[in-house]
Amino acid sequence: MPPGFVLFFAIPMLRKLSTILVPTAVLFAAWVIVFQIPRLSPEKQDLVPLAPYLLHIVGMLLACHFRRGRVFLALLAVGACYYLFRTQLTQGTDTPEAWLIYRTLAVVVPFNILLIALMSEKGFWSTAGRMRLVFVAVQIGAVWITVRLDLHSLWVALTRPIIHWPALERFTMPQLSLILILLAACVALRRAISLGSPIEGSMFACCVTLYVVFRWMWSPHVPETFCAASALIQIMAVIQDSYNMAFRDDLTGLLSRRVLNEQLPGLGSRYAIAMVDVDHFKGFNDTYGHDVGDQVLKMVGARMMNMTGGGSPFRYGGEEFTVLFPGKSAKEALPHLERLRQAIADYRMALRGENRPMDEERGKSRRSGSRNSGEVSVTVSIGVAEPGERHRTPRDVLKAADEALYKAKNKGRNQACLAGAK
Ligand code: GH3
Ligand code: MG
Ligand code: MG
Repeated sequence: MPPGFVLFFAIPMLRKLSTILVPTAVLFAAWVIVFQIPRLSPEKQDLVPLAPYLLHIVGMLLACHFRRGRVFLALLAVGACYYLFRTQLTQGTDTPEAWLIYRTLAVVVPFNILLIALMSEKGFWSTAGRMRLVFVAVQIGAVWITVRLDLHSLWVALTRPIIHWPALERFTMPQLSLILILLAACVALRRAISLGSPIEGSMFACCVTLYVVFRWMWSPHVPETFCAASALIQIMAVIQDSYNMAFRDDLTGLLSRRVLNEQLPGLGSRYAIAMVDVDHFKGFNDTYGHDVGDQVLKMVGARMMNMTGGGSPFRYGGEEFTVLFPGKSAKEALPHLERLRQAIADYRMALRGENRPMDEERGKSRRSGSRNSGEVSVTVSIGVAEPGERHRTPRDVLKAADEALYKAKNKGRNQACLAGAK
């Protein structure tokens, strides 16, 4: 496999896939636990059905606290499904009421999960968040009316086989449920991979849980274990997402200056610090607009995430970035920074029609590498420093790297300079 492929595609892809891999690992653990529960003492086995209630309540409180309305709704849907299973369906669907409840759940819950997977986060106490709760209440009311009025025919129609194909019969759940769960899973998977968001990964886990629960509803310990696992995944996602919000830069996904400030004092005695600054970025923004500027910063951030040589990148602020190299000298860090500089300079970003500069002269006048009006590129200048006689503390080294950066700017930009070198 060519190293470029690993650097630019495989590593970022793996990072985004982790939003799916972690929930998948938890679900796999749930599957293993299902077979271990019968080995527990009877008293401990009696506690297992309580776990989903506890985790759903904790998850809903957390979602409420961190204003994650979608997670709250997903927990409500799966939690309600589990409650009705425990209270109404443990004996199967022999009675007409149990049959009706099963059919209703099998349609309403996957339908709501699909809606939640499709919607964007609008908070919890906001007008949109409150409207969504009203919509849930209206649905519960409507379902209750159909049950009260004995409208079996509606649910029979909704859960009738759509395609008559023997292979589909082994799925046991209504085909409409299967389609809704599959659609929701595809939406969640796509969003999890494109956004790299743990919340979207937890939505995918929610879809897998619904599939498992509806397919093996009466297999021993399956609903309790998988509903508990699903709630646990959503709790982990809310915590991870809040961590990302506090410590990661929203635009580039890099760690923020706040984390850099925390890490500087713990660097030890041998390290290098590099400052990276996009060249002529003000002119770039003026020519192509702030949105294209943001795309370029994202591209630079993605290249920095693949930093070689053990360098940890941070967004320092604006179009400035910092890289820490613990245990490396400035000279040792330099080839890795050169590789980064080259990778950024070589990258060509295609412009959509509306982003092409209106004023062609203005487009030509700025440097920082527009090749033609259809694609753009940028360059960066880099300064790197290490602790020494003149700069002892990490703060002084950072300042020295900044001075080296401005030397690189003065020498014509698109280059890396060592502090102290001529
Ligand atoms: P130099 O080569 O000397 O660094 O020139 P420069 O134009 O890059 O330097 P300057 O510091 O004057 O401009 C930085 C610009 O970066 C100004 C600001 O509009 C832009 N900028 C800062 N943060 C962001 C951001 O988050 N998004 C976008 N699109 N632009 C940003
Ligand atoms: Mg700057
Ligand atoms: Mg700049």
